[in-house]
Amino acid sequence: MRPGWWVAIAAALAAVVLVVAVPLTSHLRHPGEAAQTPSAEPPPAVTYPALAPLPTIPLAAPPPAAIRLNDSGPEVPVVTRIPTDKKIVFITMDDGTFPNPAAPRLFAATKLPATLFLISKTAAKTPLYFKSLVADGARVEGHTVNHPYGGLKGRSEKVQHSELCNSAVQLKQIFGSTPKWFRPPYGTYDQTTLRTAKQCGYQVSVMWEASVIDGVLCIAQHQFGAGNPLQPGMILLMHFTQNFEHDYRTLLAAIQQSGYSVGRLSDYLDQTRAPKTGPHPSLVVPKPVTPISGPLCPDVAAAQASQSAAAAAAAAQAHASPTTTAKD
Ligand SMILES: [Zn+2]
Repeated sequence: MRPGWWVAIAAALAAVVLVVAVPLTSHLRHPGEAAQTPSAEPPPAVTYPALAPLPTIPLAAPPPAAIRLNDSGPEVPVVTRIPTDKKIVFITMDDGTFPNPAAPRLFAATKLPATLFLISKTAAKTPLYFKSLVADGARVEGHTVNHPYGGLKGRSEKVQHSELCNSAVQLKQIFGSTPKWFRPPYGTYDQTTLRTAKQCGYQVSVMWEASVIDGVLCIAQHQFGAGNPLQPGMILLMHFTQNFEHDYRTLLAAIQQSGYSVGRLSDYLDQTRAPKTGPHPSLVVPKPVTPISGPLCPDVAAAQASQSAAAAAAAAQAHASPTTTAKD
């Protein structure tokens, strides 16, 4: 057969496919649904009211070298405070449960670095949201796959391995880079956690000392204030909640009021920038020089109030009907 015939047959077949396929696909539309015509126009952008003015907080200059982590053992080291004598704090955000639309706008406005310890299963639900935060200077690190209730402490090696290693794999799939740090959910961990984390490729476990909940900044169970100030190197925590903007503004206000700047955690923890030899700096958090004063944090105060109410009720009941003492 001559080549010209093949071309003619192929064209005829294509025409038949078109004639059959177009009516078939048109039947797949729901009644009343208009035929889709391809459009080059992007969907209309969501508009928000202008952000209220934000405090200007400086970004701390990187130190000459990162801190040298003591990673010679079978477990990852735990960092609770960054060793520095400068007025620098670090912002971290956990979980990612509620992708609050305020966060991208606030990040774009402040340009401050934040480390996001994301539940990988949650990050997978709204990857573009978190990628937009990364584009504005955030860094994503590990926080398990499922955030097991109560934390990892006391759980089997198999469970901990699955939570830690699989979250690293999933975050790599979403963001293109393998996490190097992790934060144990609820801050609870045991030796198995730290050993397993090392096996999964993490370099360090990052804890925190201060956290914002419902617009209140708390340090060591007391509210932030003159009697309970920020300390150089503190790691601050907040969450992706409905209250994101309020919590973020609370953090920024405390940082500005204290005359602090915000540091980039990777400037201190990136081991490629750490001296190869020399003594490891102590990562033990120093005791406060002066005792902490100031009101208790709302959740601690509420827990104490309910405990004392329960104790008073028990005492009243004991007074009304004294219990008989068992003889043996
Ligand atoms: Zn968490």
